[in-house]
Amino acid sequence: MILILGGTSEARALAAALVERGEEVLSCLAGRVSDPALPAGPVRIGGFGGVHGLTAFLRDRRVRAVVDATHPFAARISANAAIASADSGVPLLRLVRPSWRDRADAHTWTWVAMTAEVLDAAPCARRPFLTTGRQSLQAFLPWSDRSVLARVVDPPNFRVPTAWRIVRSRGPYVHASEYGLMDDHRVDLLVTKDSGGSHTAAKLTAAAELGIPVVVIARPGEASARPGPGGFVSVEEVLVALETSRLPQVLSWSGRRGLNHGGSSGRLR
Ligand code: NAP
Repeated sequence: MILILGGTSEARALAAALVERGEEVLSCLAGRVSDPALPAGPVRIGGFGGVHGLTAFLRDRRVRAVVDATHPFAARISANAAIASADSGVPLLRLVRPSWRDRADAHTWTWVAMTAEVLDAAPCARRPFLTTGRQSLQAFLPWSDRSVLARVVDPPNFRVPTAWRIVRSRGPYVHASEYGLMDDHRVDLLVTKDSGGSHTAAKLTAAAELGIPVVVIARPGEASARPGPGGFVSVEEVLVALETSRLPQVLSWSGRRGLNHGGSSGRLR
């Protein structure tokens, strides 16, 4: 069985391709989103109970290979996967979306290391557009007096300031709607993570055309910024590696800090 750690469009594309080829595959989702876009094939929702739980899962279910196709900002599960792969001997492949750092306009943006730094990086913004996701929204509460436009999949789980406008939607997004949304709201700052790839990149082009400054939160670690060993930037490359059995040796991982050794169990759908 091939285990896909998912929650991204690339993970869904990979699952669809593997199912199409008749591979035994299991996609795993964290369960953060109330109505997730489900991949083809069997799906398991919920954590593994930290690195030990994931290691046991890989061994018990006789997993042939694990593909970490999680979002570049999902650092904990990626760290857990690297250790569980090393401990269980199950090869790990990492599907890493290309960073936006390589775009021609990347040098025009303000880069910050973490969400909290956005506030200092753009003290004068009055109408910021936040596209950093629900989990990071609370960090922007010091901007409760500003006309924040925040885009999320699920509604925030805290009381939103009255000056804020929440729009609920799920990508991919196209240029015309991104341009229209930012123009209509008279956005004066775009805040984004370096999610990378093409599905949510239209906002960057639209912001440039509208003359809107951009603050980008950098990826949490080098492992998520560049593919590295066992890393691939496209679904096609992962498929080739799986097909030719040229599976990489398990990765070493130096970022053991902050790992989750807690206990929880997922559920199959
Ligand atoms: P995280 O901080 O890296 O992971 C926290 C815990 O959630 C993990 O330790 C694991 O629990 C569980 N988990 C995470 N991804 C899982 C998966 N695919 N399958 C099973 N369990 C998983 O993750 P996060 O940043 O909260 O993101 C959660 C999921 O949302 C990820 O799978 C990611 O692909 C997706 N996502 C994240 C972002 C983002 O900006 N962070 C954006 C879009 C999509 P246990 O330790 O109990 O195993």
